[in-house]
Amino acid sequence: MSETRFKVVEKALSKKPSTVKAPEERMDRLYAKHVFDREKMFRYLPKDAYDALVDVIDNGAPLDRCIANSVAAGMKQWATEMGVTHYTHWFQPLTGGTAEKHESFIEYNRKGGVLEEFEGKVLIQQEPDASSFPNGGIRNTFEARGYTAWDASSPVFIMDDTLCIPTIFISYTGESLDYKAPLLRALRAVDMAAIDVCRYFDPSVKKVKAFLGIEQEYFLVDEGIAGARPDLLLTGRTLMGHEAAKNQQLEDHYFGSIPQRVMEFMKDLEIRAVELGIPVKTRHNEVAPGQFELAPIYEECNLAVDHNMILMSLMRNVAAEHGFRVLLHEKPFKGINGSGKHCNWSLGTDTGVLLFGPGKTPIENLRFITFVVNALMAVYHHNGLLKASIMSATNAHRLGANEAPPAIISSFLGKQLSSMLDAVENSTDDSIAGSGEKRGLSMDIPQIPEIMIDNTDRNRTSPFAFTGNRFEFRAVGSEANTAAAMIVLNTAVAEQLVQFKQDVDALMAEGQAQQSAILTVLRKYIKECKPIRFEGNGYSDEWKEEALKRGLDCETSCPLIFDAYLKPESVRMFEKAGVMTRKELEARNEVKWETYTKKIQIEARVLGDLAINHIIPIAIEYQSKLIDNVYKLIAIMGEEKAKALSAENLRVIEEIAERTAFISEHVTAMVEARKSANKITEERAKAIAYHDTVASCFDEIRYHIDKLELVVDDRMWTLPKYRELLYI
Ligand code: ADP
Ligand code: MG
Repeated sequence: MSETRFKVVEKALSKKPSTVKAPEERMDRLYAKHVFDREKMFRYLPKDAYDALVDVIDNGAPLDRCIANSVAAGMKQWATEMGVTHYTHWFQPLTGGTAEKHESFIEYNRKGGVLEEFEGKVLIQQEPDASSFPNGGIRNTFEARGYTAWDASSPVFIMDDTLCIPTIFISYTGESLDYKAPLLRALRAVDMAAIDVCRYFDPSVKKVKAFLGIEQEYFLVDEGIAGARPDLLLTGRTLMGHEAAKNQQLEDHYFGSIPQRVMEFMKDLEIRAVELGIPVKTRHNEVAPGQFELAPIYEECNLAVDHNMILMSLMRNVAAEHGFRVLLHEKPFKGINGSGKHCNWSLGTDTGVLLFGPGKTPIENLRFITFVVNALMAVYHHNGLLKASIMSATNAHRLGANEAPPAIISSFLGKQLSSMLDAVENSTDDSIAGSGEKRGLSMDIPQIPEIMIDNTDRNRTSPFAFTGNRFEFRAVGSEANTAAAMIVLNTAVAEQLVQFKQDVDALMAEGQAQQSAILTVLRKYIKECKPIRFEGNGYSDEWKEEALKRGLDCETSCPLIFDAYLKPESVRMFEKAGVMTRKELEARNEVKWETYTKKIQIEARVLGDLAINHIIPIAIEYQSKLIDNVYKLIAIMGEEKAKALSAENLRVIEEIAERTAFISEHVTAMVEARKSANKITEERAKAIAYHDTVASCFDEIRYHIDKLELVVDDRMWTLPKYRELLYI
């Protein structure tokens, strides 16, 4: 048994990386090689089909069935030339992952043979029997059908031998069963609402897009070593393991030189990503040993979300090819940093303006302040909901655990922007220097220095920080589908912008000039949303107290945090924006609670199994050896002398006895707690029981296991240790 650990460690150590080769082609030539992008559409589609498809993509026009046939034919021709034999509708069910069911192009030809075919109707719509996807009770098994429908705004791509068609997934009764459908609705809502507000400043704006740049953090562990850790394999994290003597305290890993074996993995991953049209740009070592980050350049939100989902599966595959296991879990190791997925989010117009970017003229700056303040108002009003959007059983280990980010959503603006908002708040003069002039506003808005764009001051503890021309939502988990956070954020901002327009228009109807009406409303908003602004240390205990006083959501229990989705103001917001109905929200919460319960249930089982079947037997075996030794010493040197010389061994014998007794007692109690929680039928109550009575046992049991790791003979310990997981 104990051999396994040494064998896998030895094997890992003997893996010699080959030299890292440069890709055979230049990256710009590889870019989007596996994507049916505009250039390929142009090449493979007849002109009318091309024009129609571009209209669908750019303007959301409906896709004509006849056109669909010629689009499908062109697509198939391209795909076949690329060696593709199958196609799949690729969608994002509520499991948090992606789903695909591959079909080959083959159809009977009615002459006893087969032919390869790909018709427009199968491109546009499919009916997967999807009864085993989570649906929160929306679909009963007798009406198990759901359907997937093509999202033409996200291009079709090739993975291995399969043509992947990004789709939404909805039930036959029309409710969304995935992340993409509500995301597309949220993006439409923010587009409509933002256009209206943009037009105060520039009547020519026709479209507002949300942009998203995702920084993906992850750990790499040797595959063989990870394979000897049942907890990593089954739960994605280590449920036990004493900290290594050295971890991140020297801060020598962050931005350090990338180990060669990892470098090979990164290169391969980047080539595959670029071929799929994912503009990967930044890679570096992260803070913790074995932790890395990959960030593509920002893209339109819907595409960035899809690309992140593709990237996560690519990472898993490429890691396996390199003898690694990639850990996307938010907290795989205790005592060192966990992983997040910073979501850099902004809004931009078809006229090329980033709406959270300061401008050069007073009018542009007023627009900038308008959008920043409305974003703050949205985050303020829905801070609890935003927290719910990033909450999960796995991300719960990061939030509030004295690590980025705290379990309270607040926003950091930096000194310059803060003082600007203060200036607007306290200003009394509404006149504005003639638009186009480069002077500051006469109403005391200082000119915004260019330097702000370089986002000079940073606060890493803030979950929602302004960083120059965008906000960075840092609370999102490394494993999550970022759509969940983007649905809430974009809908909340849409709702807020609609409100803003109403408020401004109301003042204008009373005769106030537009500029002055905008400023009046902004001043009111700046005052109102002050509680969300926080520039201090988000990890401190004082902040927890202060946030409570400010009325921010401070709940830390995962199942209770989900309640925010069903608060009246949340339901109203989603329904009004046409993003989700109450029924959909209720169903999704059922899924969230159920998933939470299952994850804790699996962890409890694995922890119980490891404790009882691995740890205790090893500890007792070692203890018996010590006891045996003491007896033998007594035999040769008499009791008194032997006991005096064995004082330390006797202490360890006792320690092992106490700790193993504690562990088995508490595992039994945990199993009992699980049994009684399992009797609860209502998902919410069950999740709460799992949180309060099952998950709450983990730390204590682990504590004693980790202490045993320190006393038991290293050669007998079967589970690879932290130093082996993190430093090989
Ligand atoms: P950091 O300093 O925060 O680690 P990185 O350069 O690693 O920054 O990542 C920043 C991410 O933000 C990149 O994906 C980048 O493309 C993206 N980004 C930059 N500007 C914007 C913007 N206006 N809107 C959305 N994302 C942006
Ligand atoms: Mg960042």
